[in-house]
Amino acid sequence: MRMILLGAPGAGKGTQANLICEKYNIPHLSTGDIFRMNISTCTPLGVQAKKYIDKGQLVPDDLTIQVVEDRLVREDCKDGFLLDGFPRTVFQAEELAKFLQSINNTLDVVLLIDVPTGFILERNIGRRICSSCGSSYHIKFNPPEELGICDFCSGKLIQRNDDNEETVKERLNVYTTQTHPLIDYYKTNHFLSTVDGRDDILTVSKNIFLILDN
Ligand code: ADP
Ligand code: ADP
Ligand code: ZN
Repeated sequence: MRMILLGAPGAGKGTQANLICEKYNIPHLSTGDIFRMNISTCTPLGVQAKKYIDKGQLVPDDLTIQVVEDRLVREDCKDGFLLDGFPRTVFQAEELAKFLQSINNTLDVVLLIDVPTGFILERNIGRRICSSCGSSYHIKFNPPEELGICDFCSGKLIQRNDDNEETVKERLNVYTTQTHPLIDYYKTNHFLSTVDGRDDILTVSKNIFLILDN
């Protein structure tokens, strides 16, 4: 299965991506995770990306598209993948379509996790991520078993630099102007499935599996 997850910042893409990838045994490709990994190891890509991410802006298309193409050509993506957080602009979507065509592939599923803007601030501000494995938690909606510690790897939980009120508001602006148009793009050029992202995590995943199993 080759699929894309769309949704506003904090809609639950990463959370659901983990559950989907486990069930369908496909790799989870999160551009945000890739950038954060590069930032934490201070690679040249990380240094570039950090300038934009900390301001809540998008990393430029050319850098981002290269990252994704380098990842998609790897052996583990041969039979499927889940893209989480990419594409984020219509240009990225067009480049992805061209790239997939060049390797004789197409997307099977484009899935939107739909969450009203009124949910976004609390979802992002309460998010904590594992500094070692990247798993995400929420202080209220999805707390770890032990405060501040990752359930999976015992890593330390931290708050993302861009999960403060000011930057979240900017990310939401960027989403509305640059990413939201993808919804119409995929309605026109593909097909778009939608789940209600206001429900709790397990209800959302149950509804996603209903769509994917059909
Ligand atoms: P969220 O969905 O919670 O906003 P992500 O982890 O997907 O967060 O992305 C974090 C940041 O990484 C974004 O705000 C943006 O700066 C950068 N980023 C991630 N994916 C892309 C992309 N496809 N294009 C441009 N920038 C991206
Ligand atoms: P995204 O990747 O879209 O930015 P995440 O999966 O990181 O979103 O989720 C954002 C925050 O909201 C995290 O703290 C996560 O634990 C929490 N969260 C995810 N899905 C739900 C949900 N259905 N209900 C409540 N909180 C959720
Ligand atoms: Zn962890």
